[in-house]
Amino acid sequence: MSEQTPVQTVLACSQCRRPFPQSDVVQIAGNWVCAGCKPGYLSRVMASGGATSAQGWHYGGFWIRFGARMIDGFLLGIVQASLALALFGTFGAQFMPNVIRSEPQGLRVSFQILSYGIGFLYEVLFLHYRGATLGKMAVGLQVVRSNGESLGWGVCVARYFMSFVSALILLIGYIMAGFDSEKRALHDRVCDTRVVYKQSLA
Ligand SMILES: [Zn+2]
Repeated sequence: MSEQTPVQTVLACSQCRRPFPQSDVVQIAGNWVCAGCKPGYLSRVMASGGATSAQGWHYGGFWIRFGARMIDGFLLGIVQASLALALFGTFGAQFMPNVIRSEPQGLRVSFQILSYGIGFLYEVLFLHYRGATLGKMAVGLQVVRSNGESLGWGVCVARYFMSFVSALILLIGYIMAGFDSEKRALHDRVCDTRVVYKQSLA
């Protein structure tokens, strides 16, 4: 009769994904973590106030995203002011109703179309190719799918238009991010995207 070895339960570390016997891993904030990953994982959990995913992602919250939007708005404002200079001869004419009113309608419509077009292309091209607008890059944020993949064209376009809906409903779609455990705004929920700190992406 051979001696029976007790069956050890093997668990995968949520951070490095290597298998460990259950006795060698501890559960922290709902995730199994090995001894090697524990210090780094703990400090991430502390730093984020708990908004860290099983993959170790650190989600961007409402205010940092608000800051990123402000930077984007500022940059787009400068581009649009320059467009106004080219079309109307006055830098920032879009903020001057008296100047705008005196311009021919064709020019005003052209300005509106180009303005929206620039805003659309800015967001969609940067999200698709860089995973972040310049504002998000400046604060170290990245937009990814929930599985960690980068955003395809369809998702970028859909997310752009959904972000209008988020803004239209009294910004409630944005404010939702502040109360979600994964910091998802409405357009993140609909498009299955997450806004995370680039550093925390392995
Ligand atoms: Zn590990």
